[in-house]
Amino acid sequence: MSEYRAPLDEYRFLLRHVIDAATVLRQASEGDLSLEDADSVMDAAAQLAEQVLAPLNVKGDQQGPTIADGQVKSTPGFRAAMKAFVEGGWTALSHSTAVGGQGVPHVVGNAVLEFWSGANPAFAIAPGLTISAAHTLDSTASPEQKDRYLPKLVAGQWTGTMNLTEPQAGTDVGSIRTKAVRQPDGTWRISGQKIFISWGEHDLSENIIHLVLARAPDAPEGPKGISLFIVPKFLVNDDGSLGPRNAVTCTALERKLGIHASPTCVMQYEEATGFLVGAENRGLTQMFVMMNEARMGTGSQALGISECAYQKAEAYSRERIQSKAVGVRSGPAIPIAGHPDIQRILLNMRSLLTAMRGVNLQVGAWMDLTKIDPDGDARKGWTQRMEFLVPIMKAWLTECAQDITYDAIQVHGGMGFVEDTGVAQQYRDARITTIYEGTTAIQANDLIGRKLTSDGAQTARSVLAGVRDQVVAVKALGTPRAQRFARRLGAACDALEQATDWMLEAQGSRSAHAGAVPFITMWGLVLGASVHARCLLAASGSSMQGFRPEFIERKIRDAVFFADYHLPHVEALKTFVTEGTEEFAVTEGANAEQV
Ligand SMILES: Cc1cc2nc3c(=O)[nH]c(=O)nc-3n(C[C@H](O)[C@H](O)[C@H](O)COP(=O)(O)OP(=O)(O)OC[C@H]3O[C@@H](n4cnc5c(N)ncnc54)[C@H](O)[C@@H]3O)c2cc1C
Repeated sequence: MSEYRAPLDEYRFLLRHVIDAATVLRQASEGDLSLEDADSVMDAAAQLAEQVLAPLNVKGDQQGPTIADGQVKSTPGFRAAMKAFVEGGWTALSHSTAVGGQGVPHVVGNAVLEFWSGANPAFAIAPGLTISAAHTLDSTASPEQKDRYLPKLVAGQWTGTMNLTEPQAGTDVGSIRTKAVRQPDGTWRISGQKIFISWGEHDLSENIIHLVLARAPDAPEGPKGISLFIVPKFLVNDDGSLGPRNAVTCTALERKLGIHASPTCVMQYEEATGFLVGAENRGLTQMFVMMNEARMGTGSQALGISECAYQKAEAYSRERIQSKAVGVRSGPAIPIAGHPDIQRILLNMRSLLTAMRGVNLQVGAWMDLTKIDPDGDARKGWTQRMEFLVPIMKAWLTECAQDITYDAIQVHGGMGFVEDTGVAQQYRDARITTIYEGTTAIQANDLIGRKLTSDGAQTARSVLAGVRDQVVAVKALGTPRAQRFARRLGAACDALEQATDWMLEAQGSRSAHAGAVPFITMWGLVLGASVHARCLLAASGSSMQGFRPEFIERKIRDAVFFADYHLPHVEALKTFVTEGTEEFAVTEGANAEQV
């Protein structure tokens, strides 16, 4: 089964009742976008996702790109899909109107990104990277560079890539060796090998603009000696037309576990012509614009793949007849959806999806709010919140995607393990999301090493205080289910606060780093529950016109399930973080034997 349905109702609900998108849209949209406008954007995006991208998903899995003489041919159908994507103006969606974009805020952009990735994650990487590359140039490049490259990237006529990884420089980006030598005419010669470059070479666009991290011969060692360069596949003439082919080639494509249709390229730079972006040795900071966006994009990708897996599992559970109902001695076998354990699995998937979606929208909303009051305190506050949430969102959503796609296979039984139902593709495609754009450990290190400590945990505490307010509000609903939810979330907040205090004390230690991933998971669970708290409050209120009673009851059920099933883990994780990590605190540096 290859059908995919964009979860429009979910977004209509979340944007109205969980995120207060109306306020965000009003404050952040350049063209005063309303909620109804956001609905129209999402409807059109859903159509493209369902009708153009989704039908190519299985094909892309089975028939990935091929390479011959350095030319990469993409999966049949992808060129036409890219044409439709570009003609629909989707690459321009989130760019400012000043550079030819549509100025649609991220809170809507993140929803749409989920649809692309749910429908066809391997395809969605190409425009996703292009959009991030253009945002990066928009905020870091010179006016001349912007004029030359931005219009065509924004329009989707050209695509963009991110070139960080080298054989010896994966997580350790500071150990990049690609060499950049300044030329008398002000250009640079770039030489070296980059590996694992997504959509590094392909036939979907006229030109490919590589954003490459490289090091000048006299640059300082480590991360402080890295600069950012534009290296176009075809050099661009002053009048904007394409010039000669640059000395950058794809020498091989990786064979891999999932996202088969996305070419993962080995790129060889042989004195290719490059153009420095901004100041020398500032490359890593500049590239953080792209990395931050790509991290959020990966979270949206994990969410989209998970939704697709859930839809397949839910449909299969209604079709597959197996065994009598619990406690029934005679009578026919029932659809497996009637068995309590399948219901538990489906509730787990669904309640995680709502929580993930809410966190994804929250990060988009905070990002949008960073644009208001550009010089003031409000902007600083939103920026700190957004930056605090990015690693949590990336790590937690992508780890949840592993559980959800695992569950989807489990619901299908043996039919999930064989390829016929197609759900194995989601399981394989989701696996990369915890690895690229910084592994889960790296997001966790970022949280404890920078985001938490840079302001003495003030941002963390203010985010947590917001969740505690929700606990009070949910408790005041007074129903037994609401009381139970509030009790569990209150306890989880207590545990998270204790772990946060402990992390601040332990910062920089081996114990802190041993507890980093469990700690980021605690944050994910509590912020996920905060989404459910807002769902509960909305579902119990009186402003739910337009939503069916079953939809509202499902939201209540999902919230209570999340609290009962997931929140008790927060206390258990705290125990490990604050006590179990003592075992890792050795005094003499790290070595493999310690494990
Ligand atoms: C399909 C695919 C597409 C990709 N696309 C791109 C792309 O477009 N552009 C690009 O530049 N790169 C890309 N990458 C590279 C990707 O970002 C890296 O694979 C990733 O950052 C991890 O680096 P690594 O594979 O070298 O793993 P390593 O860095 O070798 O890590 C191995 C393990 O050690 C752990 N580890 C390493 N250091 C630490 C530490 N300090 N603390 C805790 N744990 C640590 C990691 O978490 C991981 O579990 C892609 C990779 C793949 C597979």
